[in-house]
Amino acid sequence: MAIQKVMVVGAGQMGSGIAQVCAQAGFDVKLNDMKQEFFDRGLGVITKNLARDVEKGRKTEEEKEAILGRITMSLSLEDAQDADLVIEAATENMEIKQSIFRDLDGIAPKHAILATNTSSLPITEIAAVTKRPEHVIGMHFMNPVPVMKLVEIIRGLATADEVYHAVEEMTRKLSKTPVEVNDFPGFISNRILLPMINEAIYALYEGVASKDAIDDVMKLGMNHPMGPLTLADFIGLDTCLSIMEILHEGLGDSKYRPCPLLRKYVAAGWLGKKSGRGFYVYED
Ligand code: NAD
Repeated sequence: MAIQKVMVVGAGQMGSGIAQVCAQAGFDVKLNDMKQEFFDRGLGVITKNLARDVEKGRKTEEEKEAILGRITMSLSLEDAQDADLVIEAATENMEIKQSIFRDLDGIAPKHAILATNTSSLPITEIAAVTKRPEHVIGMHFMNPVPVMKLVEIIRGLATADEVYHAVEEMTRKLSKTPVEVNDFPGFISNRILLPMINEAIYALYEGVASKDAIDDVMKLGMNHPMGPLTLADFIGLDTCLSIMEILHEGLGDSKYRPCPLLRKYVAAGWLGKKSGRGFYVYED
């Protein structure tokens, strides 16, 4: 199952990073979004990343241009007609993803693998809208994609072994490390990370310590690069809440109940860095 042509659906934060690492590894990539301005924004981020690499001596100007030359714009899913692998990185919403997969199933060649970068939605449920659930798989890249080494590869209930192995090999070609995970809420990354963040919020809520103290304990004592409350602000508190709700509902265990303080902040519009205020205040 040779993968040569790749299509990435969604040119946002994750999709642009995924397109960049695929092009860096020598693959021709179609980067799809709904409007040219969204593609332009994604390509702008890629161009900036590559320019920084050139500045730091990690790449030459020629390499930068060659990488950019392998990325082409797509504004229609019809462009998946010659893809070997489609990696969907559109908005985290089941209806949107199912609609994209339904369309891709009718367009992409029979042999094509349809992967999703979802961070929390069930792969099996996305695969169920296609007639090729054995060719559907999760490829969960970490943010920022060009920097982070891990790709969680999630097998849906029906994912074929040969599809898993092709995606594992592809991940290595992207200079990333694949880790195999089964399809359960939050996979491994968010099943462990989000309850830790939620517990840090409970510690704040119960007055066990101040926000700075909680972050300092985890940074200085556990060697985490950032404290859990700072990390929550970076991820977005609405995203944190939505993942906790998926864990709570999907696993049916009260230990995953979202902290009331998290709910309160989200209701107030305090969503973290992106809204200017979460556990901390961001001036710009
Ligand atoms: P984003 O909002 O930055 O980008 C989403 C892009 O998808 C937007 O450009 C939007 O225009 C596009 N889009 C929406 N509907 C589309 C459609 N029907 N066809 C084509 N494009 C469409 O979001 P993001 O942070 O890049 O997240 C994308 C996916 O990656 C989500 O599933 C998210 O859960 C997952 N993810 C995010 C992170 C993260 O840290 N941000 C980490 C891992 C995985």
